[in-house]
Amino acid sequence: MVDFRLTEKQLALRQLARDFVNDEAKPVVAELDRRSNPEDCVSDVLMKRCSELGFRTLALPESFGGGGVEDTVTIGIVCEELGVADLSLASIPVNGRKLLHILNPDVASEEVRGKWMKEYCADPAFMVAIAMTEPDSGGDNILPYDAEGAGVRTTAVPDGDDYVINGRKQFIAHAGIARLYVVFTRTDPAKGMSEGCTSFLIPAGHPGMSFGRVHDKMGFRLLRNQEIVFENCRVPKEWMLGPLHGGLASMRAGLRSDGILNAARCLGVARRALEEIVDWCKGRVQGGKPVIEHQAIACELADMHVTLQAMRALVWNVAWSVDHEPPDPKAVPGVMVFCTENAFEIAHKAAELAGGMGVMKDMPFEKILRDAFCIKHLDGGNYLKRFKVAAAL
Ligand SMILES: Cc1cc2nc3c(=O)[nH]c(=O)nc-3n(C[C@H](O)[C@H](O)[C@H](O)COP(=O)(O)OP(=O)(O)OC[C@H]3O[C@@H](n4cnc5c(N)ncnc54)[C@H](O)[C@@H]3O)c2cc1C
Repeated sequence: MVDFRLTEKQLALRQLARDFVNDEAKPVVAELDRRSNPEDCVSDVLMKRCSELGFRTLALPESFGGGGVEDTVTIGIVCEELGVADLSLASIPVNGRKLLHILNPDVASEEVRGKWMKEYCADPAFMVAIAMTEPDSGGDNILPYDAEGAGVRTTAVPDGDDYVINGRKQFIAHAGIARLYVVFTRTDPAKGMSEGCTSFLIPAGHPGMSFGRVHDKMGFRLLRNQEIVFENCRVPKEWMLGPLHGGLASMRAGLRSDGILNAARCLGVARRALEEIVDWCKGRVQGGKPVIEHQAIACELADMHVTLQAMRALVWNVAWSVDHEPPDPKAVPGVMVFCTENAFEIAHKAAELAGGMGVMKDMPFEKILRDAFCIKHLDGGNYLKRFKVAAAL
């Protein structure tokens, strides 16, 4: 028996997110996106409202001050709604869920879990950043196998009771504004990523950790990405997350399933594209009738609608399965590829169907298209995700 009816709680959360998007977020995201300095595109106000409405801490346990929403489908529903306004807004509930999984009991003590989750819930601007990618190691960190010479180059060298970290990270989401950083380092250069990498939790403002440029992206601009520089950054060994050389396993144990929420936010961007183009095609008259009544256009819109339904069915299916079934390493990367590619196709088609207006900055289509392109590059990009699917076939 498969039941896709939403519960009262899911419907209420969806409505809460939908009202926030329509009343507060949609009116301001286009202006934020257009700001030329990428440092000005993140909105403290929207972040604060997402905290007040409980979206940021949705996934964290009630005992620490969170929303206590454990099921992935519900968080995915909120991600879709926020993604209708902007992909970056949907990063906010994903961030809380990531913190929960980063601090999973296999790698973090009760004390460490309690400290950071309580601080996260109490501070409406608290975000966590996950710093893995480096100038010379991007896809190399995500491979489903150990390749010789591949992986992070940032080093952590033991010195007394401390480790001393040196290196550089790039593209890191929320860097510069996050209060806490999960930093992947190489602790055994002779070994591959799976046996030679260790992660550390480092609070913002710690000496030796500073920030480089804020990346100026074509889209996804309300998400800040920035370089992080480590120069003789001395951290106590107690800040190690999980065992020495077990950084990758610690991360995989925790974050494996969270990619499904990136797929869920693709539903939002695709839905926005579809809603906007349907409205536009109903209002634009050419050839004596609204263009939606021209069969070629109507068929495109129908295909876009059906594709979106298929994306959502797959997201809900896999979101449910990550909570209830043994891990399937193909499932999440597979659905991420499907949803990011189709969200991009829907956004592309919407911009195309809008004719010349599709490329004008006073219409929403070009922003949606830029955002939809960017999300293909999360978590290693879509080729690497396909490798993961193929490796598990
Ligand atoms: C918006 C955004 C947010 C991000 N947020 C974060 C973050 O918070 N934390 C973080 O650590 N990183 C983050 N990243 C980085 C992201 O995970 C990397 O971009 C990704 O891992 C790919 O690395 P790269 O860009 O260096 O590409 P490269 O590894 O240089 O790859 C270049 C091309 O080669 C292909 N390729 C790579 N390796 C292989 C191979 N072995 N075989 C065949 N083809 C290959 C790739 O598919 C790609 O097409 C973010 C990126 C973006 C765009």
